[in-house]
Amino acid sequence: MFEKFNLDTAERLDKEDKLSKFRDLFLFPEHKNKRCLYFCGNSLGLQPKTTKDYINDELNDWASLAVNGHFQANNPWYEYHKILTKQSAELVGANDNEVVIMNGLTTNIHLLLMSFYRPTKKRYKILCESNAFPSDLYVLQSQVELHGYSFEDAVVQIPTGPNGIIKKQEILNKIEQIGEELALVFIGGVNYYSGQVFDMYEITKKGKEVGSIVGFDLAHAVGNISLSLHDWNVDFAAWCSYKYLNSGPGNVSGVFIHENQSKKNPFRLKGWWGHDENNRFVYDKNKKFKAVNGAEGWQLSNAPVIGMAAHKASLDIFSQAGITNLFEKSKNLVCALEYILINFNNNSNDIKFNIITPKERGCQLSVLVNHSGKKVYETLNENGVIVDWREPDVIRFAPVPLYNSYLDIYNLSLILKKCL
Ligand SMILES: *Cc1c(COP(=O)(O)O)cnc(C)c1O
Repeated sequence: MFEKFNLDTAERLDKEDKLSKFRDLFLFPEHKNKRCLYFCGNSLGLQPKTTKDYINDELNDWASLAVNGHFQANNPWYEYHKILTKQSAELVGANDNEVVIMNGLTTNIHLLLMSFYRPTKKRYKILCESNAFPSDLYVLQSQVELHGYSFEDAVVQIPTGPNGIIKKQEILNKIEQIGEELALVFIGGVNYYSGQVFDMYEITKKGKEVGSIVGFDLAHAVGNISLSLHDWNVDFAAWCSYKYLNSGPGNVSGVFIHENQSKKNPFRLKGWWGHDENNRFVYDKNKKFKAVNGAEGWQLSNAPVIGMAAHKASLDIFSQAGITNLFEKSKNLVCALEYILINFNNNSNDIKFNIITPKERGCQLSVLVNHSGKKVYETLNENGVIVDWREPDVIRFAPVPLYNSYLDIYNLSLILKKCL
């Protein structure tokens, strides 16, 4: 926590920050010819300046090589997905053969549940949080329906306490309580609304104890908090690349499948890109699917190279910055933000910000505004601050360590004064 955070503090911290130069690698939207204060990296990360070049390289290879680009491009498209693996595995704490980049996030969650939600008469329930992301709930609904169950019966939603927070013990108790009926625990690693980070290690351990499979949606976790999926013994996970990973709207998603699970060669929906690379192009009408080892064996289609090029541009920046440095700065930035929000409360008789995000957090603070919240949000917008608004009364601020500075936080405090 900060005892004081003023212009001097901000300038000093930016000077000492070894990541400060990374800010210049990104394109910021403008408001009245000035850079916006961008605190929305939890929703859509900024565009790296290099993204265009990475995409252009592929466009040029396509122009000059056409179909031969599959094998002759600088990064042969035939195995383009592989150049994303190592860096992605580092971000989530996995072995290389446990990770693959493919499809969109919701599609991937469906594919994973086709393999890892295999209900039996007795064990068919899924546990999730009641304020899960809407798309995740729709996936769960269709998956239980696919197996002949009703949403109401098969999907157990852990109720949230005040302000959308769920106590860890509550989750562990629920797992214990459902026990032998529990087929799957599927929770967001970081809740998108509250910014709460869940204890994935403990949840996984408890889930395994009762014989359940455990998976996580890491859309708000990847690139935001430290992850050790392999060591935590998580069965599977998926994430998107366009929030903290800055890879562009709707871009490709990542998948983790623990090697203990892929080794069992479970049922999956099959496609040619998941099949043995040595005879992928052999046409034999009796041919049986033989999965590539590891997570790659879940691929359906050949790699969407243009989007993946944008993803590669961003992963290269993460590698240069170093995730340990990022998470360290993130902790400090969010404390600075917390400081100015509390300071605002101390100076305001009227509007109060109630930070609902608990101490288990990444770089997002969700703030409930007691009244005229929408007005505060609009005032911020009119002054070039980009944050997002969640009905009915929550503003989410996410200062991200790659491109937000301490001065951004200080400048936000000046604009907040206009709301008084
Ligand atoms: C952003 C987000 C999604 C989005 O899914 P898409 O398939 O990429 O549109 C899904 N789940 C969670 C938890 C998210 O935060």
